[in-house]
Amino acid sequence: MNAVELLREVVRIPSESRNEDAVVARLESAFLELGLTPKKTGRNLTATLDGGAGPLLLLNSHTDTVPVGQGWTKDPLKADVEGGKIYGRGSNDAKGCLVAMMIGAQKAFASNAPKGKVLIAASCEEEVLGQGLEVLLPTLPRPDAAVVGEPTGLKAAVAQKGLLLLEIIAKGRSAHAAHGGGVNAVEAAARDVLALSNIKFDREHPALGATTLHVTQITGGERHNVIPDRCKLVVDIRTTPSVSPDEIIALVKKTVEGEVTIRSNRLGSVETDPAHPVVQAALAANPSGRAYGSPTLSDWVFLKGIPTVKAGPGDSKRSHTPDEYLEVAELEAGVAFYENLIRSYFDKAAS
Ligand SMILES: [Zn+2]
Repeated sequence: MNAVELLREVVRIPSESRNEDAVVARLESAFLELGLTPKKTGRNLTATLDGGAGPLLLLNSHTDTVPVGQGWTKDPLKADVEGGKIYGRGSNDAKGCLVAMMIGAQKAFASNAPKGKVLIAASCEEEVLGQGLEVLLPTLPRPDAAVVGEPTGLKAAVAQKGLLLLEIIAKGRSAHAAHGGGVNAVEAAARDVLALSNIKFDREHPALGATTLHVTQITGGERHNVIPDRCKLVVDIRTTPSVSPDEIIALVKKTVEGEVTIRSNRLGSVETDPAHPVVQAALAANPSGRAYGSPTLSDWVFLKGIPTVKAGPGDSKRSHTPDEYLEVAELEAGVAFYENLIRSYFDKAAS
């Protein structure tokens, strides 16, 4: 099967999160054309390649994309190839990874099949961290290791930052602005914003670096002539395994006057021992790459406890942008990368 033609076909099928049915239908037939038996669970699609007794390696990537958005100079749904680049929404994030995984795995098992099983999972709703891998995983046999296909330039991500979202409510007492009096919640929130900007975390993660904390939203006040009694801050914190969410929450509570509540603590940071066979296999499959820490979220958050590496063709900086593209050469290198990774993983796992 031609990877470029399959990628162009699936880029032409819009698949915003929660609307993946059409692309899933095309992928179902592609699995059949590859000689595999796809299984649909909701809008998630799986297929197993079986080389007999041995470990189970999960290959996961996602079928959904973010909306097309503004600012395109190319047609986002035509998958035109210009100058060696396949343009279109989802070409880079992550349909190229998914296509490369499917064809790479098929090649790995077509001759001299590895001893073990590869389970390909094309999951939905990754961009909204919804009803995708998180709900699919408990229905699958437990993998011994996993590869998450996201555009990393074929480098091996051995750690991934998590997301902790906090809300802080500054409270005051309203009054008529002309009369004065009252307690201004916006001013209280301002003090909290400044105090938060001075928070420093004393430990860095070797691959991910520092924990970061940013106040990204502020809402307060109803009218120009009323001293506001309430102001809300949203704090976006990108976590690493070096500083736990509990420790961060305690520190934020100590730092601010307002009331701290947790909006989301579901998306933890994850890491894999770089010596694990799945990481070593990814490094062996791309000797010019290196292990690194990734700041962006992916379905890896749902694979906690399963040794995982995140790697795939493309560049994360092109994701979610106008004129998103994947180079033909990157896609072809991706197919070879996943084939080699699979072969190398089962070799290393057996030895
Ligand atoms: Zn992605």
